Amino acid sequence: MRGESSSELVIRARRVLTPSGMRAAEVRVEAGKIISVAEIPDRAGVSSWPRSVGKDDAAGRSASDARVFVELGDDEVLLPGLVDTHVHVNEPGRTDWEGFATATAAAAAGGVTTIIDMPLNSLPPTVDSGALEIKRAAATGQVAVDVGFWGGAIPGNERQRRGLHEAGVFGFKCFTVDSGVPEFPPLGDVRLAEAMRQVAELGSLLIVHAEDAACIGAAAGSRYADFVRSRPDAAEVAAVSRVIELAEETGARVHVLHLSSADVVPLLAAAQADGVPITAETCPHYLTLAAEDVGDGQTQFKCCPPIRDAANRDRLWDALAGGVISCVVSDHSPCPPEMKRLDTGDFGAAWGGISSVQLGLPVVWTAAAERGFSLADVVGWMASSPARLVGLGGKGVIEPGRDADLVAFAPDERFVVTADRLLTRHRLTPYLGQELRGAVRKTWLRGVQAGAGQQAGRLLLADRLFTRESAT
Ligand SMILES: [Zn+2]
Repeated sequence: MRGESSSELVIRARRVLTPSGMRAAEVRVEAGKIISVAEIPDRAGVSSWPRSVGKDDAAGRSASDARVFVELGDDEVLLPGLVDTHVHVNEPGRTDWEGFATATAAAAAGGVTTIIDMPLNSLPPTVDSGALEIKRAAATGQVAVDVGFWGGAIPGNERQRRGLHEAGVFGFKCFTVDSGVPEFPPLGDVRLAEAMRQVAELGSLLIVHAEDAACIGAAAGSRYADFVRSRPDAAEVAAVSRVIELAEETGARVHVLHLSSADVVPLLAAAQADGVPITAETCPHYLTLAAEDVGDGQTQFKCCPPIRDAANRDRLWDALAGGVISCVVSDHSPCPPEMKRLDTGDFGAAWGGISSVQLGLPVVWTAAAERGFSLADVVGWMASSPARLVGLGGKGVIEPGRDADLVAFAPDERFVVTADRLLTRHRLTPYLGQELRGAVRKTWLRGVQAGAGQQAGRLLLADRLFTRESAT
């Protein structure tokens, strides 16, 4: 493996996604950081590129120094690496569900260069600094992309949260409803208010799985419509209303996870207009799948909150366009295929979670392009906004001073999702068999090519100097 500190990488492309739009540019990288983004004449031949580099040097190292020159093809675009702030790696403890090596190799293959790991499903859950240490030790030496960690807020860990914050978690996750695992119970109303006051005091961020337990019915059987009815829009509306009230009262920065119900959007819009520090994310499956298309017994589509109807989906896209929802992240939450209970197709018994970290970019881009959105929109939702959410100032944008986390993406290449392409531990995903648009050809992490067998990822600590203004 090449030492990244001495390397220099030069990438030229006719389409580089910069903050000021798509440009023909030469991106220079030193010691893992972008040092310049120089515009070059579009459609120019190699002889007129600003550097005297012959075609023979393309993708190779010149004899005289450690430079690597890469020239992207005309069908490729250079994008910033995606930042996926919602990934369940499940290691240690439930490593048979996923694990750092497979999750991060899949992330790199999908153009994701940073993930933030959720505090639950791994054992122990990340609810104190000792558990964080155990998780960091488990991740060490086996991550292909950069990895940060969320802490958890559960009943009883109030005194542990400051220590977790000081140890560098990016914020705290809590549930207002059963989480699916017994070791990570939800916060009731009083404890939710306490958690918000504490998060405000720490200057951290509370991320909330917001469904109101009182609105959730029992789910059983193989009819998808019954499952959706058991977790109605009203559950999200009630929980988010309460979260907004408390955010207003406490001044805590809060973020609504995996928003599914578009009925919540007007509430969020009003709160944001009033200056309440609240943001929201949605996920590729809510934006691209629809209840009408989920067959009975197809438990690979089960997640909580559920995938709703096509009209709801249209309104989620409107909320992205209007900026009320700012982030699109995977909520990658795989499990062993048996736990999806495809044998019985019982939505009550099946694990709720969708495996998608490797596919988010083509899944979202395919639908976004059909709806008239640009790659800049998609990258805003999937790279720059999530980076801003967690205060990762070095990530998510191609400009000097940022980490050289880069992706060569062929936006018009089409492919069919087959199990053999997937690098996750298990290959069950609702996207199997779908034809998608947009192929990730190459991913660089801090200027070094990332992928399976390459463990150049770092474990990230949150910058604790959050300010209110850093909220998107
Ligand atoms: Zn999740």
